[in-house]
Amino acid sequence: MEQKQTINFGAGPAKLPQSVLLQAQKELLDYNGTGISVLEMSHRSSDFNKILNKTEILLRELLNIPENYKVMFLQGGGSGQFSAVPLNLIGLKEDGCADYLVTGTWSAKAAKEAEKYGKVNIVHPKLDCYTKIPDSSTWTLNPSASYVYYCCNETVHGVEYNFIPETNGVVLVSDMSSNFLSRPVDVTKFGLIFAGAQKNVGCAGVTVVIVREDLIGHTLKECPIVLDYKVQAEMNSLYNTPPCFSIYIMGLVLEWIKNNGGSAAMETLNKQKSSMIYDIIDASNGFYVCPVDEGCRSRMNVPFRVGKKEGDEALEKKFLEGASKRGMISLKGHR
Ligand code: PLP
Repeated sequence: MEQKQTINFGAGPAKLPQSVLLQAQKELLDYNGTGISVLEMSHRSSDFNKILNKTEILLRELLNIPENYKVMFLQGGGSGQFSAVPLNLIGLKEDGCADYLVTGTWSAKAAKEAEKYGKVNIVHPKLDCYTKIPDSSTWTLNPSASYVYYCCNETVHGVEYNFIPETNGVVLVSDMSSNFLSRPVDVTKFGLIFAGAQKNVGCAGVTVVIVREDLIGHTLKECPIVLDYKVQAEMNSLYNTPPCFSIYIMGLVLEWIKNNGGSAAMETLNKQKSSMIYDIIDASNGFYVCPVDEGCRSRMNVPFRVGKKEGDEALEKKFLEGASKRGMISLKGHR
C-alpha cells in the first residue's frame, strides 16, 4: 500500500527517520534472528543488554560525554525530571535552595515542582510574556544555591538559549528535551542534562539523564526509589523494568544521527530548516509574525501568527486548512 505523503511538524512525538521505522518494523517480528520480537525480550537478557550498552556508547560518542558522567535511561518523562532534579540535587548544599531561570512554560513548571522540595529563587525579574531571555546583567544568582536550572529550548514559546549561562561555579542543570543533540554541546559545563526522547531522539517513554558522578548520592529521603539517581546509576538503569522498546528506538535514531554526520551536521540542518521559515516571516511585511526576540529564536520550534501580531483567527484557520490539504499536519501550536 502506498503511504500517504504527510509532512509532520509535530514537536514531539515527532517525525522519525524512515530507515529507523523500517528496521523496527522488521525487528518487531524477529529481533536479529532470535525468533522473538524486540517487544518480547526480557530486560535481563543479553540481547537487551547489548541494546542498552550500544545506546549508551553511541550517546557518549555523539555528545563526547566524559567518563565521570553517568548516563541513565529513565521513565517519567521530562516532567518526572522536574521532580527528580530537586529531589536528587537540592540537598547538595546546606541551604537546600536552587536558582531557576523561568523563560517559558516548561521552566515555569519545573520551578513550581521544585518549590515542593526546597527554596526556589527565580533569578531575574518576572517576565510578563515568554518571548525573550532576560539579560544576564539582571540576574541575581545565589552563590549558596545547590544548582542553577534552565530550559535550553522552550518548546511552546520557541525561545532557545544560544549560550550557556554563567553560574560562577554553581552546578548547572539543563532541560534539553526539545533541542537534545540538535547541536554540539560541551557536557563538561553541566552538572546535569536531561531530555525526553520523543522530540529528537526517538519515541515517548524514555528520558535520558546525564549527570556528573560527584552530584549523585545527595538525594532527599522522600525521593521515590525509581527517581533516585544513585540507585538507577548503580543498577545501569535496570532497578526496575526500563522502557525497553523506547531505548531500542533511541539506539536506532542515534545510529542514524551518527551516520548522518553527528551533532554538528544536525546543527547545520536545523539552521537551514528554521531559516527557511524565519526568512519568509521576516520578508512578509508583518503578514506572518514571530513574537520571539531575534537573539533567542529557536531553531527547533518556530511559533508565528498569521495576519497580524496577535493573530487573525479567520486567516489562521484558513492557513491551517490550506496546510492540511497539502498534507502538512500539527502546525497548530499552543494558544
Ligand atoms: N521539557 C520540555 C522542554 C518539553 O518540551 C516537554 C514536553 O513537551 C517537557 C519538558 C515535558 O516532557 P514530558 O511530557 O515527557 O513529561
